Amino acid sequence: MKVDTSLLEPILKDSHKVALIGHFNPDGDSVGSVVGMHHYLSHRGIDSVMVLPSEYPGSLEFLNPSKEEEKIIVYKPDSKAAARAIASCDTIICLDFNSFSRTECLEPMIRKSKAAKVLIDHHLSPDTGSFDVAISKTDISSACELLFWTLMSLPDIDGNVKKLPMPCANALYVGMMTDTNNFSNSCFPSTFSMASLLLKRGINKNKLQEKVLQCYTVPRTRLMGHLVKEKLIYFRSLHATCMTLNNKEKAAYRFKPGDSEGFVNLPLAVKSVRISGLFTENRDGKYVRVSLRSKGNTDVNMLARKYFNGGGHKNAAGGRLYIPLEDVPQYFKNSVREYLSEGKK
Ligand code: 5GP
Ligand code: MN
Repeated sequence: MKVDTSLLEPILKDSHKVALIGHFNPDGDSVGSVVGMHHYLSHRGIDSVMVLPSEYPGSLEFLNPSKEEEKIIVYKPDSKAAARAIASCDTIICLDFNSFSRTECLEPMIRKSKAAKVLIDHHLSPDTGSFDVAISKTDISSACELLFWTLMSLPDIDGNVKKLPMPCANALYVGMMTDTNNFSNSCFPSTFSMASLLLKRGINKNKLQEKVLQCYTVPRTRLMGHLVKEKLIYFRSLHATCMTLNNKEKAAYRFKPGDSEGFVNLPLAVKSVRISGLFTENRDGKYVRVSLRSKGNTDVNMLARKYFNGGGHKNAAGGRLYIPLEDVPQYFKNSVREYLSEGKK
């Protein structure tokens, strides 16, 4: 796949310090794309700093560069370093999100900055007007895949995967692997081409898989069992399920960021289930984090936009609710019912 990099290349050529920004609640695609770009730029001799608005899952820590001065800056708790990084850069590259609002507390700093702004993203409805260059494509697995094809199209790499630095190749594979749920959704022919080229480059696919997908604790596995056995509500006529996770349960099962990764997919293994929702109480109890998944043509992006203050992709979306967690199952049921009935009109 060829990506038009004619606007990006001059910006990179002129950059001395780049800030690479991921989204709030960063996932594998967010961390992978930020880290992957960092290694590409380092290899090219361009200084860059990685900034994430909030903590990322511990399973991705191995992607964080070992050198202290290269480490990812997380706004909470390192707000001063994050602000400095954004204020002192000449280019900002936003990866894996479609509007500044997804960076939460970083948004005002990014908006205020005079730096050149670049978007590399695969979400629907990107806010392209806010960027000097927007590389946006939605029929692709992940931001990491889009970044992969973008880097492959830049003049210095020129389609030769062997020229991609190895830590960049690893990070991009991890992001693509997590966003496709290990090749089970959002895969395109280009996704397998990317995987094939990265294998040629020499990545150790099994090792990366083990590090990211087989890295959990026993309490996390027990929490998964608890949710499925005790908390799963099946709305038979709606072909939908919902699970809620509160802070008491999190404490009881020694919950860490990233531990609920994959839980929302579990009910989709049931033949009749088309929509699955996981609702997690935020740490300070201020809101409920929403995670939605669907099968086939059932669109949870629109569901998230209309009823859950969020968005995402057709089969994977998220958002927030500002109601008590106990009220969520009823709210979910009513929302899905209304949403599906509107579709039938
Ligand atoms: P997850 O359920 O894994 O947190 O998120 C699934 C998808 O929904 C991701 O593509 C993510 O970018 C998107 N998403 C998650 N939370 C939000 C949100 O609060 N707002 C928007 N617009 N998208 C979200
Ligand atoms: Mn993504």
